[in-house]
Amino acid sequence: MTQYVYFFGDGKADGNKDMKELLGGKGSGLAEMTNAGLPVPPGFTISTRACNIYYERGGSLPPEVDEQTDGALARLEALMGKRLGDPADPLLVSVRSGAKFSMPGMMDTILNLGLNDRSVEGLKAKTGNGRFAKDSYRRFIQMYGNVVLGIEKDRFEHGLSAVKKKYKAAADLDLGEKALDEVIARYKEVVEEETHRPFPQDAREQLRGARDAVFKSWMNPRAITYRRLNDIPHDLGTAVNVQTMVFGNMGDTSATGVGFTRNPSTGAKEFYGEFLQNAQGEDVVAGIRTPHPIADLKKVMPAAYEQLREITTRLERHYKDVQDFEFTIQENKLYMLQTRNGKRTGLAAIHIAVDLVEEGVLTPREALMKVEPQALDQLLHPVFDPKERAKAKPAAKGLPASPGAATGAVVFTADDAVAWAQKGKRVLLVRMETVPDDIHGMSVAQGILTATGGMTSHAAVVGRQMGKPSIVGCGALEIDAKKKKLKVGKTVLEEGDPVSIDGSTGDVILKEMPTSPSEVLRVVAGRLKPSQSVLYQKFEKLLSWADEVRRLGIRANADIPRDAKVAFAFGARGIGLCRTEHMFFADGRLPHVVKMILSAARGQRGLDLTKRLKDRLAEARGSQAAEIRKELAKVRKEYGKHVADYTGALKKLLPMQRADFAGLFREMHGNPVTIRTLDPPLHEFLPKREELMVQVAVLRAKGEARNRRSIAEKEKLLRAVEELHEFNPMLGHRGCRLGITYPEITRMQARAIFEAALQVAKRGIPVKPEVMIPLVAHVEELKRQKQIVIEEAQAVLGKDGGGVEYLVGTMIEVPRGAVTADEVAREAEFFSFGTNDLTQMGFGLSRDDAAKFLLYYQEHGILEKDPFVSLDAAGVGQLVEIGVRKGRGVKPDLKIGVCGEHGGDPSSIHFFHKVGLNYVSCSPYRVPIARLAAAQAQLEKPVGD
Ligand code: PEP
Ligand code: MG
Repeated sequence: MTQYVYFFGDGKADGNKDMKELLGGKGSGLAEMTNAGLPVPPGFTISTRACNIYYERGGSLPPEVDEQTDGALARLEALMGKRLGDPADPLLVSVRSGAKFSMPGMMDTILNLGLNDRSVEGLKAKTGNGRFAKDSYRRFIQMYGNVVLGIEKDRFEHGLSAVKKKYKAAADLDLGEKALDEVIARYKEVVEEETHRPFPQDAREQLRGARDAVFKSWMNPRAITYRRLNDIPHDLGTAVNVQTMVFGNMGDTSATGVGFTRNPSTGAKEFYGEFLQNAQGEDVVAGIRTPHPIADLKKVMPAAYEQLREITTRLERHYKDVQDFEFTIQENKLYMLQTRNGKRTGLAAIHIAVDLVEEGVLTPREALMKVEPQALDQLLHPVFDPKERAKAKPAAKGLPASPGAATGAVVFTADDAVAWAQKGKRVLLVRMETVPDDIHGMSVAQGILTATGGMTSHAAVVGRQMGKPSIVGCGALEIDAKKKKLKVGKTVLEEGDPVSIDGSTGDVILKEMPTSPSEVLRVVAGRLKPSQSVLYQKFEKLLSWADEVRRLGIRANADIPRDAKVAFAFGARGIGLCRTEHMFFADGRLPHVVKMILSAARGQRGLDLTKRLKDRLAEARGSQAAEIRKELAKVRKEYGKHVADYTGALKKLLPMQRADFAGLFREMHGNPVTIRTLDPPLHEFLPKREELMVQVAVLRAKGEARNRRSIAEKEKLLRAVEELHEFNPMLGHRGCRLGITYPEITRMQARAIFEAALQVAKRGIPVKPEVMIPLVAHVEELKRQKQIVIEEAQAVLGKDGGGVEYLVGTMIEVPRGAVTADEVAREAEFFSFGTNDLTQMGFGLSRDDAAKFLLYYQEHGILEKDPFVSLDAAGVGQLVEIGVRKGRGVKPDLKIGVCGEHGGDPSSIHFFHKVGLNYVSCSPYRVPIARLAAAQAQLEKPVGD
């Protein structure tokens, strides 16, 4: 029979730490801690398998789940000597979610389950504490009402506020037993009004309701959004943990808290966390009361504090990672409620991984698996300009929850954050406290600022994880979200006003602040010595371990020498794509490019006709020769000006391109540099049709006679634009199709490449040019373009090659190119997958327009991820696999890389590693991410070892 329920208690557990998939992170952690003899309140875990069946059956469970739950409950009752719902001495349990990957605050929790009108009296009698019993009951009704019965939280809050007002109580803690009885009565009325049924008194019904609600919460919108943002599959399901309650709210000898074995924000080796005396767990994380630093626990409960330190140190060594733990102290006795690997900032991740190796806890290979590649991004975020920062006077200070500098326009709701961001504005989300429903707003904001909450509140945990600079618990903020106003001291700000936050110090500054690069970036840019930055040294150490492990080469997409330099400093060893068209937009070049385009069609035709006639002339005699000469003169007359414009423009562009290429070769210090011939449709270089039409109309209105020349020029341009107009430019006259119809352009680019290579090689710097032909669908296209490249190489390099070794290869980015890769490989000396176009054409999605519905697709579960961000392994990935297999079938050693955006995406990198590519190429700032992701791919699926 399938086991759905796993017991833990009395020193042994059915599960262990390796069962996260089935028991969730929390369930497997509780089992592991129980097995290790730690003080864990006993209970049982209902597996993720049950959750998945619950969804498969549309919201019901097989009878075995209930039977096994009853069995586990009976065992728990026997162990505790109490029964669930017993009027005399009730067993109370908590019911919590727990998936394989932690999703803080995204799913639901219910505490104090088992209380009803009678058992609450039993609890009172047994503990001798009426206030505590009643407070527990009212919390239970509130939580159960909200989570299981779907009643708005506000309905309960109003009831509570009314009673507080009546008794003139400032805080919840000021309410006595009598007042709490009134709160309970009001809460029960709310439940009856809303559900037309009394609050359920049967403890087993309560348990089933809570279990199902937790299962349901797996699919609530915020959990779905969270999984989408964090690449967590939707079909994992959550487990449900049912655990004996222990109480942190039994007076001042009780407490509850959360903590980390190291600082999750900075990575410093310090005991870190916070607690509240006389409180229940959700008070700490909900940000309602501001908790005390954990160091203060030593003063109030020294024995429990020492035990907690000892246990958590052991846990860190046991799990070989920073632990994020929850504990409760009930009347001076410590209980561990949870331990899991702690989430951390990118900064902390680097420090912790390298420190744990230095402390002998981890091997370098293990350390590599502890850092999320994407988290490295956070280290490459800007910080405030130090001078400006020193001058700026903070208006308020909060808790520094997630480091980094952020500046943006104030917005007060998550929806407004999204609306402003869609208009291209940088925003800073300011809230009393954030809730999981705010996740969409948090993800678009530059930073997050809240008035309440501690370092483990929702805003802090989620902000850190997203790498968003965040400040929480900033009590000086007076926020009026309805009126969209923020008061800080005497200053009143409105929506849209600029605010800056320093997530590393907690300072709030009421103005826009210039930012400057991160510490790592400063070292990379040569503005700080590596010896002055411990962070950089650790960053480089970790990445050097990655370099020892990985099999994939890492190159960068860089078009200009400055970017190539950054890429090299980040560890790129080669350029995988130089988009030469980007150089065409540089200052002073566009007029020549426009001239080239305007004259290309006729200029090229003039050249072709002249060549053909000259070839014939060489063979002709007598009158035939005279005839040809006459024709030649006619061609010269008709096309001469166009030919002169065309070749003239190309001549101007040649030295410019040569200088750029020489710069790239120098910056790459002998590593390969892949230069792609012109790719985009030519109209992209010309002004927009509508703009030109308006300009002509305006000139006409201003006076036709006076503006005759300008009008004629603009009209000529307009005619050219109209001639070049295409309905589907992305499938039109672009890529190698340009080079085939206008071979002089390819010729000029090839010449510039080889002249640059020769120039640099002559100075003793090795060069490895790789000329890449884009958008090849048919081998014949490549063959013809390659011929031109080789001719120019021979012309420039001479017979002996001038010491320059070069390759001519192609991009595989058209599905036909991929499926005929065997034919293409006969001509190609390397392949580079252009997965942007391959996705566009393989998926039939326009790169420019698909965003309109792709988000909808993701939100509605049609696609897990945007296929332009993360390679669609199942579909487009097959085209890559076919290309690799067929290409290598012809040339077993064919060098194959990828230069689409996917080259910097960790999950796509795993795919490219698996299918045997030689390298990935990505933007310079993603090179560190790619280095680490490639190492992790090798550690997970070793190839070639
Ligand atoms: C590609 O298509 O993946 C590619 C790298 O080329 P581009 O993005 O310039 O079309
Ligand atoms: Mg492309």
